[in-house]
Amino acid sequence: MEQNALMWVCYDSVETEIRSSLSKRLLWEKRKEQMRRSKILNGKADNALRMMNNAGFRIKGPVRFVVDEKLPFMGYTMDQEQEHSIVVAGKALSSGMIEGLLVHELSHIYRTETNHPSHNHTLLNGVAAQIAAKSKIHARYQVKILQEIVNHVQDLYADDISFQVFAKNQTRLGSLDQIGEFFLSWTRTEPAQSRNRKMKVWLDLSVMLNNAFVISNLERHQIRHFEQEAIRANQVFLSKIDSNLSESSAHFRTFMTNLKEEISEHEFKQQLLKYMNSFIQLAVS
Ligand SMILES: [Zn+2]
Repeated sequence: MEQNALMWVCYDSVETEIRSSLSKRLLWEKRKEQMRRSKILNGKADNALRMMNNAGFRIKGPVRFVVDEKLPFMGYTMDQEQEHSIVVAGKALSSGMIEGLLVHELSHIYRTETNHPSHNHTLLNGVAAQIAAKSKIHARYQVKILQEIVNHVQDLYADDISFQVFAKNQTRLGSLDQIGEFFLSWTRTEPAQSRNRKMKVWLDLSVMLNNAFVISNLERHQIRHFEQEAIRANQVFLSKIDSNLSESSAHFRTFMTNLKEEISEHEFKQQLLKYMNSFIQLAVS
């Protein structure tokens, strides 16, 4: 096991899932399977930490790796007081992408540990409080979309690290073209289907920023062929939504593409507020 970060692997809420009606044998079988999968995650986490370290991004840790069999998406990272947790979906563990996913999540942790403004929770909470005080946004889907668009910014900063690790480990993690293709698969060409006009605007804007994120990420790492394909897919999407919204696509893309590596907390906060306010202005128009 890589010695640079304390690490242990566990299963999420294993016991709560086991109903008393299950026989002891079934319980034992289930525990055995969980131990087997924990071991797999353990090995993958060790590899991912080693790749980060070799590329110059040493994680101090401790990091806790958790499998959540029922998680509907691939994975996420949680930061608590003195510990980071990476939660991966059961399906992610079985996919060929698990080490790439762990490198991405560890890159978030690297940004947090090195106190990059994009991963400074005090700063982000301050921005959220300012936005909440100024705008009347309370619906759950709206709050979720605002979290998503902040996430795009954090993902771009995390991927600036992950892509350097990917580039150094192409035989293990897949070529940059394969990674580009993976990102391209996130672009969407269809607008939202909602009879609620207000909700449709928010959902269409959410797709527009998701596409902008993909294009910007490919552009930042010069994966040109897939960037062009993502631009084409986005054009199809933009042709199907309200032109008042689509006209702003380039603005958000430019913002994401030009996010600077070296940025002070003050400047980042101002930029993030501007980005979020321009999104909200459009969404409530
Ligand atoms: Zn992420």
